[in-house]
Formats: sequence, structure tokens, C-alpha cells
Amino acid sequence: MRYSVTSHANTSALTSALTSAATSDRPPLTHSDPQPIVSSDMESRRKHYSLLIVDDTPDNVDLLRRYLMRFKKFRISSAENGQIALDSLRDRPLDDRPDLILMDVVMPQLNGFETYRAIKVLYPDWDVPIIFMTGLSDLSSKLEGLELGAVDYIIKPFQKEEVLARIELQLRLLDLTRQLRAKNEQLEREITERQRVETALKDANLELARLATIDGLTQVANRRCFDEVISKEWARLADESRPLSLVLCDVDYFKRFNDFYGHQAGDDCLVRVARALQDSTRRATDLVARYGGEEFAVLLPETDLSRAEEAIYRLRFAVESLMIPHAQSDASEWVTVSLGVACQVPKLGQTPQNLIAAADSALYEAKQQGRNTYCARYLTDDRCGE
Ligand SMILES: [Mg+2]
Repeated sequence: MRYSVTSHANTSALTSALTSAATSDRPPLTHSDPQPIVSSDMESRRKHYSLLIVDDTPDNVDLLRRYLMRFKKFRISSAENGQIALDSLRDRPLDDRPDLILMDVVMPQLNGFETYRAIKVLYPDWDVPIIFMTGLSDLSSKLEGLELGAVDYIIKPFQKEEVLARIELQLRLLDLTRQLRAKNEQLEREITERQRVETALKDANLELARLATIDGLTQVANRRCFDEVISKEWARLADESRPLSLVLCDVDYFKRFNDFYGHQAGDDCLVRVARALQDSTRRATDLVARYGGEEFAVLLPETDLSRAEEAIYRLRFAVESLMIPHAQSDASEWVTVSLGVACQVPKLGQTPQNLIAAADSALYEAKQQGRNTYCARYLTDDRCGE
């Protein structure tokens, strides 16, 4: 006669099992093997596999226990039915749960299939291999057990040697799975660490690159950065036939300032002037650089001379607005700047040297005119002219 155990028959039993397993305060009713199977020290525990046999037929449990104990590598506990098994699992810490469960199917209270479902609901992250053992040999029962997710299905009456072989096969798979998981976790840790190091290295390189282009005192671009940028802008604007303006800017009577107020005050003055110049530029492509000593360069791509002169008003106003006292200046009671500006539409095959020389010449002229002023040059194709 066909005898199939299905989950539909005992839905209320499963519900009460889940409730009981989740909330019961009763001590676990499972009876562990009365004789110690192995040494209880942690080292030996790690070398052994923990098996849970769930079966309502004591003879089956005893037969299996006696046979398996011979191999000195199993710790065996047992439960008389599914409910008792769930109660015992509830009270076990994660690292003390069985490595494998041998589960009878036909049992009172909670059958094997229902117990399996309850375990999956209660411990969704616990991937314990479960082998069903049953006298139900019909195909549909077998299929139901395997479809549930059981790793194997043993028909009673069983050959204990076959049970051992199937257990060992599952434990080997379990070991391999654990090794793979450990290696994956190690790999993930290594990847995370490598990403962390790569990010740190990238940040350090960015900082190095930034430091290589920044003037240490004033924190605006340094001369090297200026030389690179003007060359690039020269080539770009030559391609586009658009103007490039260059302002050279000198702090008036800076040597007197240093001598009178001291070098620390001189450095502070340069820092504040540099920041004022930087703050008065408007576009990302505008570049303020420390050109040397107390001299700054302001590169204004795509800027014709009239717009460059507007920029000069902003630059001068920004510096004067700092109102840094300069008792030794003949130009003002505050720190001021003299400026020379030159503008040119770059030509392919030429260098920016003429533009730089023209700005320098204009600056010299501004100084000749008494400082705290500016002069401008516009360079055409065939001549340099004012
Ligand atoms: Mg049974």
C-alpha cells in the first residue's frame, strides 16, 4: 500500500512546531549519546563531525550509533522526533550545530519533511545537509524529499555500510564547500585590501602631483605648472585662433616691506595677495601662478585685451581691498601691485616667449610710471605694439 507523507496533512503541526521552537522556554528534550564519543576538548571537536539522527525507532538509532562510533570521527546526538530535534537546535549555538542530519520521514508529531521545512524557515542561512531515511520507497515520496532539498535519500532497511558511505560523501562535499567559502572570503578580504591600497596609492599620487604643481608658500600654481599650462593653452588657442592674455603682477616695494615688517610678515603678505588674485579670477581655465619672488602671473585664455583690462581692475581692487599697511611704499599706504598685460592670438610654430616678454616689458613700464598701475601690449602677427 502506498503511504505518502505530505506537508498538507499536518500544517497545524508544523505551525505549532515553529512557534514552539521559536518561543518555548522548555529545556531541550533531545537525548545526547550517554557515552562520550570523543574527547571534549576543542581541538578534538574540530576534527570530528557532529551528526544528528532524528528517528522514532530506538533500534535504528542504536544500530547506527554503535556502528558509526567505531570510526572515531563522529559526535552523535539523536532526537526521537522532529519536534524534539527542533527544540535541541534552538538551544545550540551556531558553531555547535550538527554538520549533517539523518532524518527519518515517518515520525509522530512532526514528520521528517515537515521538520525539514521548519529548519529551513527557522534557519534560512544554515546550509546543513539532510539525508532522509525511510521505509517509504515509492517514487513520489523520494521525489518529495529530494525536491525539498535533501542531499540524499536512503531506503530502510538500510545497510549501515551504505549509510556510512553516503554520510562520508556528503561530509567530503561539506568540507570542500567550506574550504571554497573560506578561500572566497579570503579572496574577498584580499581584494578589499588591494582596493584600499590602490585607492591610498592613487590619493598619494594625486597629492604628489598636486604638490608638484603648487607653490608651497602661497598655494597657487608654481612656475613649473605655469610653464606647462601656457604651452598647452598656446597650442590649443593656436588651433582655434583665439586670443591668449597674460598678466604679470609685482608687489610694489616688496623688498622695503620685507625689510620693514620682517620676512614672516612678507610671507603672510604674499599668501594674502595670492589668495586675493586667485579669488578674483572667474573661470576654471584662468590660472594664477607664483612666477617668482613677489611676482605673480595670471593666464587668461580666450580673453582679448579689453577683457584682460577688466580683469586687471578686479585684480588690483582685490589686492588693495586687503588693506595691508605698507609704510614704506611710495605708491600707497597699502600694499599695491603693478601689472603688465599682453595679449596675442597664438600662432602654430611659435612659442609664448614673445607674449611673456611683452607682458614683462609692460610691467616694467608700469613700474617706471610710478607703480600701482598697469600697462598693456597687444601683439599682432608682424609686430609688438601697445
Ligand atoms: Mg519512523
